Amino acid sequence: MHLYDNTTADAPENRLNWREFARCKGQLKLFFAKRAERPQARERREAKALALCGECPVRSQCRDHARNNREYGFWAGEAEEDRHLLGFTVSAPIGVRARLARETA
Ligand code: SF4
Repeated sequence: MHLYDNTTADAPENRLNWREFARCKGQLKLFFAKRAERPQARERREAKALALCGECPVRSQCRDHARNNREYGFWAGEAEEDRHLLGFTVSAPIGVRARLARETA
């Protein structure tokens, strides 16, 4: 198989175009915070997103992509804060700062 041949019947987790198998297709609002989102709304939104991620066949590819590319938002069951704690900090981690400020107040 050629490295860039993604037309084979490989399992989803082996495909290069893993996004086509994403359970979150068409539901981006669940994965990115609205401006000035309240903490309670965020918790509800992320709980719904987590449920989708839990049944997603490309979760590991998604997680690696988000970590390696320092993505914003909720990916593969991980929020920015989760990735920050693992050493994959985004360039301007607003959510991390806000949550740390609440915890130290
Ligand atoms: S793991 Fe979650 S965020 Fe990633 S592609 Fe699947 S449903 Fe979307």
